[in-house]
Amino acid sequence: MTNTDTVDAVATAIQVKELALAGSELVRITVNTPEAALAVPYVREQLDRMGIDVPLIGDFHYNGHRLLTDYPACAEALSKYRINPGNVGKGDKRDKQFGQMIEAAIRWKKPVRIGVNWGSLDQELLAQLMDANSARKQPLDARQVMYEALMSSAIESAHRAEQIGLDGNQIILSCKVSGVQDLVSVYRALAQRCDYPLHLGLTEAGMGTKGTVASSAALSVLLQEGIGDTIRVSLTPQPGESRTQEVVIASEILQALGLRMFVPSVTACPGCGRTTSTTFQELAKQIDDYLREQMPVWRKQYPGVEALKVAVMGCIVNGPGESKHADIGISLPGTGEAPAAPVFIDGEKALTLRGDNIAHDFHQLVQKYIEKRFGASKTA
Ligand code: SF4
Repeated sequence: MTNTDTVDAVATAIQVKELALAGSELVRITVNTPEAALAVPYVREQLDRMGIDVPLIGDFHYNGHRLLTDYPACAEALSKYRINPGNVGKGDKRDKQFGQMIEAAIRWKKPVRIGVNWGSLDQELLAQLMDANSARKQPLDARQVMYEALMSSAIESAHRAEQIGLDGNQIILSCKVSGVQDLVSVYRALAQRCDYPLHLGLTEAGMGTKGTVASSAALSVLLQEGIGDTIRVSLTPQPGESRTQEVVIASEILQALGLRMFVPSVTACPGCGRTTSTTFQELAKQIDDYLREQMPVWRKQYPGVEALKVAVMGCIVNGPGESKHADIGISLPGTGEAPAAPVFIDGEKALTLRGDNIAHDFHQLVQKYIEKRFGASKTA
């Protein structure tokens, strides 16, 4: 999801492009004001001009019914609408305003994500469920009631959308919470209770390592169980950090689980007392950065290149073995070893690099390997 002001259509389009090039296959943008709604078609236009065809999802809260009705070009330019049932209105207005958003989706033939979040849970529904719970002989604990409120809000809203006339195939659900165990419990139950596709994400996961680990832990458990159709990692960027970090982490989760491949993988050892220089760390980083930077072009130029496995190892202990498991791998000399770096290609030792340009030479070998194996002139 972008964090630009959508009113600034150029800045928003640039960030969407960055996210798409990093591997995002859907990008959500905030649509919170008439000015933002007016800007949406221009964001789409800028992207089309840049050749970026990533679908845009509009994120609506409080006034989505008005924006989708009053700004038809916005409704048309978006590929999906995110509706938060906790933020569509209170009392009598809620059903009417929710209905208006669904009618826009039907009119423009768009899917919707009914996205419940425990930070903005429908308080009337929660109060009803709390009252019903306290009337039970054996009341559930408050957390269980909250889970029930999250799921009921999503499923009942989806049923209401179908009653209004939206095809059930056009509905995806999410119930985001910020605790790992809560997320796992809610989605396991949700997956059992409905057949709608599910969007996964640990909301407000936090910053840096904490947010990355928590998101990875939560999403991995669910994805491994076959739960989840789209995912998002919600990270608070570190000051100055690129917004694309959350896309990188999301794709790495899918790749680590073997569910999807996005970029060639670099296997590197952690290093130890046998590697007193930083040569292999630098080479591993250079290769990793290089492969990632090339991917926007390589995706089209070298189909299948995302399955490539490269190994960069620090010494002879595991270096040759791990390098043989990769498509192309290098075993750098550890402390006290002869200054030579054997390179293994397709499991066989191909050559040995020596001298001061090992990093550069290995780079060239990787590029040549990719051209030969994945390029237009590849041999069958
Ligand atoms: S491969 Fe060598 S340098 Fe790397 S962790 Fe193992 S023993 Fe240490």
